[in-house]
Amino acid sequence: MIRYDLKCANGDEFEAWFGSIADYDAQAASGQLLCPHCGTTHVQKAPMAPAVRTSEAKEAQKERAVAMAMAAKVREHIKDNFDYVGDKFAAEARKMHSGEAEERAIYGEATPEEARELMEEGIPASPLPPELAPNAPAKRKLN
Ligand SMILES: [Zn+2]
Repeated sequence: MIRYDLKCANGDEFEAWFGSIADYDAQAASGQLLCPHCGTTHVQKAPMAPAVRTSEAKEAQKERAVAMAMAAKVREHIKDNFDYVGDKFAAEARKMHSGEAEERAIYGEATPEEARELMEEGIPASPLPPELAPNAPAKRKLN
């Protein structure tokens, strides 16, 4: 939703919500925009367009905050339920795969070469985006 501050030809100011910028354009072009005060269709955006950007920015900020909160939860989950094996990740993953070690959830660091080798050997490992990796990663993390 986008909020526009609108102004009619008689100087009334009001605000209206639109599904999108295209929505506003379509309604304005077909003369469907009415001033709620005097009923004229001579309505245009008030010069304070920054209000639009502000509300969009706020929306983006909110979405980002939600994503960050989710990432934090995943990070906590990994920290609580996965064994951290540091740079021994590739070796541990191999041991579990061959049955030498008990299978468990692990995370740690692997070099890009190690990650590629694991993939070629058919050992399931997936890179964690940095925001999901507990402990700031110096190298790529896998789980
Ligand atoms: Zn008016």
